[in-house]
Amino acid sequence: MGSKIPREQVRTEKVKMQYFQAKIQIKSGLLQDSQSLLYSKDWKISLLEIYLCTLYLDKTEELNLNNDFLIISNNQPLHELIFLAKSKEGLKIYMLKFDSNKNFIKITAGIFLSKRPSWILSPVCHICSQEFDMIKRCHHCRYCGKNICASCSKFCRLDLLGYINVQRLCVKCVTRVGDRMKFVCEIRNEDMSESMLENLYDLPYNQSVLASTLETM
Ligand SMILES: [Zn+2]
Ligand SMILES: [Zn+2]
Repeated sequence: MGSKIPREQVRTEKVKMQYFQAKIQIKSGLLQDSQSLLYSKDWKISLLEIYLCTLYLDKTEELNLNNDFLIISNNQPLHELIFLAKSKEGLKIYMLKFDSNKNFIKITAGIFLSKRPSWILSPVCHICSQEFDMIKRCHHCRYCGKNICASCSKFCRLDLLGYINVQRLCVKCVTRVGDRMKFVCEIRNEDMSESMLENLYDLPYNQSVLASTLETM
């Protein structure tokens, strides 16, 4: 018996089907050249589109919004977004500037929600393989979307997918998310323990329009 899909997940699936577009300023380069990219003035105007968990740049570059796509930082007051993605040439850093707060929020929220997994319904826990029943309740891992029981899961922060509060993750994903966060901290040149106190949002939750948008989308 799998649990029914809650409203929150239905909303996420709806967002994934939506089409988003915005005119942006962008500069990009290979990850190893990120320092020079930071100081480069080589901005160009591009059309960014998101549809069915894929991000398109000028209809020529195509990036999958999966777990390899990492938001490194988002600066709401400056409408800036930095992300890392796998391209044909290798790992690339993209720095984006939006012309309005509205577009910044729309696209950033669209990326976070597109990255969330579709949920898989299974009669058994994917870690311990025990069947779900009235006592062994069925839950979902917010990072891989698979069914899990309470003893094979933990509540953790999941900033990578734009969640504000702690979320239930399967024990395998707890390690995966920890590794990804460590990687993000390395790129941001930050100490993990220090930045784990803060999240990926540059504003406190109650001031962040992005955070409240993510909760209602
Ligand atoms: Zn289990
Ligand atoms: Zn998982």
